Amino acid sequence: MEAENNVSLVDTHAHLASSKLRPDLDAILERSQGAGLSRIVSIACDLEDSKTNLELAGANPLVSPTVGIHPLYVHEIESPGWESELRELASSPGVAAIAEIGLDYFHPPGDGSSDADWRKLQREIFERQLEISIDLDLPVVVHQRESAEDVTAVLRQFPETRAVLHCFTGTMAEAETALDLGHYLSFTGILTFNNASQVQEVAANAPLDRIMVETDCPYLAPVPFRGKRCEPAYVRHTAEKLALLRGLDLAEIARATSENASRFFAL
Ligand SMILES: [Zn+2]
Repeated sequence: MEAENNVSLVDTHAHLASSKLRPDLDAILERSQGAGLSRIVSIACDLEDSKTNLELAGANPLVSPTVGIHPLYVHEIESPGWESELRELASSPGVAAIAEIGLDYFHPPGDGSSDADWRKLQREIFERQLEISIDLDLPVVVHQRESAEDVTAVLRQFPETRAVLHCFTGTMAEAETALDLGHYLSFTGILTFNNASQVQEVAANAPLDRIMVETDCPYLAPVPFRGKRCEPAYVRHTAEKLALLRGLDLAEIARATSENASRFFAL
């Protein structure tokens, strides 16, 4: 398939290892190329995903792998050796980032523990993974949900960290804090939703050299696919919305966000 209008886009956050996408991954990747994607950064939620991402990337030049443990999966860590296992996976050639990692205070504790213990465990795993990223000179993709203050506190503790706040939906003040620390912001299909005026304002005003686009597929499909299974090709709709908000052409937004992604992830 030939890319539409020669626009080149990077989906900086796709869960290609997800069981919701893997059954027809070949068709999904073909449609991605048809939509003009030059790269898909495949994000991990646990060690299993991390290994799958490495395999997918090995078989497909369109895919860049990440490895990492999502805050909602920290209670599933079985082996005390997880840290050295992750370190080894992260040392594989082509790994784009430690991802996704962070703090999620929205969902209830996955292991039935108290809120305090759950948050403490999440924070410990987050900090250990930031150490690995710094040791290996890799960037990180940060997941935050109702935890912006603590995420900022942790990121301040590790000033060498290079982070992107993925699926950014925060306030302008939260965006400025992250930008001041040198981090990036990435926007999902939420940007296309009618009730998304806060994030639209951030997306319209953030520096052009510090923003990226993503799908977070299989979740968060942009309009006109809202509520359906999402896939990387749909990142184009988010990029179109971003272009509209900033009064730019799709080609200009595609160029800027792709350059940002290439620089950030060393693609
Ligand atoms: Zn994600």
